[in-house]
Amino acid sequence: MAHPRDELDEDGFIPPSSGSFRIIETRLPVAGEDFPRHRAELEQMFSSEEACLTYLERMRWPRGFTCADCGIKGEPWRSGTGLLGCAYCKALVAVTHGSIFHGSAIPLMRWFRSVWEVTEHEAGTSVVAMQRVLGVRESERAARCLGALRAAMTLPTKRRLRRNVELARVPLEVQTSRGGGRASTCKVNAFLAVAPRGTEIGQLRLRYTPSADGSDALAFARDFIEPGSVIETAPWAGYRPLGLAGYKHKVTPPPMAHTHDAVALPLVHQIASVLKLWLWSSPEVSVDSLAGYLDEFTFRLNRRWYPRGLLFYRLMILSALYESSDEELLGIAVNG
Ligand SMILES: [Zn+2]
Repeated sequence: MAHPRDELDEDGFIPPSSGSFRIIETRLPVAGEDFPRHRAELEQMFSSEEACLTYLERMRWPRGFTCADCGIKGEPWRSGTGLLGCAYCKALVAVTHGSIFHGSAIPLMRWFRSVWEVTEHEAGTSVVAMQRVLGVRESERAARCLGALRAAMTLPTKRRLRRNVELARVPLEVQTSRGGGRASTCKVNAFLAVAPRGTEIGQLRLRYTPSADGSDALAFARDFIEPGSVIETAPWAGYRPLGLAGYKHKVTPPPMAHTHDAVALPLVHQIASVLKLWLWSSPEVSVDSLAGYLDEFTFRLNRRWYPRGLLFYRLMILSALYESSDEELLGIAVNG
């Protein structure tokens, strides 16, 4: 069944209008088979490294193994330790190749549980929680793993918003640095763009920009909003270049003077309030880690109606195919 592209979210799913949702992906994921529904099922599905490798292999080659060297499709030879060998040209490839898990000494069983950990906690994931789940002592190493997962979350945001978009600068308060002693806080700005779906929040794009001046606003728009779209903003001189850069710029003044520009735009205002609360409840957030947190917030907000298992499944695909350019496999181009 064909659906207008704008009705779909960035995973090719139709957002719910009454609490339920339909999946129209070509690869229809099945609960209990493609993804675990709860933690007990996670433990059961991924009880060995071998089970994790089989799962990754299926994500990477959903239509069967095809050799990247000779291009021939056929049942590969399996080493049992994660290597697949082409039956024709004998070329070898690691199942983890191109994933965020590749080259890591951390067992896949732990990695998979860390993906579940990230999807389980709506308030965001902490480095301490990652250390525990991954079984690593060094917080820097756990932070790098969490950073890799957050980087995978940003893959679908390569698709630019279109038609009508609200854009604003949102002031955020974060810690200046982590480490010993009492941290001080500082105010920073993030650019936030949201494409409304009817009168509700549709897709979100978010980026922390240290200076947040007019050139940053234009750079943000170019990265995340299709030319020709109508961009609605509050009055601020920094948005003026938008009108000269192929966008239709609509200015909406805030209801009262001396309010920040997000207040003029109801959806932006709504998201900004949730974001501030989310950051406030995440004491780990610092200027250094803010960008990663904003990526995680965007990933969650854009999939806020997903059951937990489906969120796990999406993040697994994005992690497993991190270096892939196969947009169909990634599910990115389904609706864009
Ligand atoms: Zn081959």
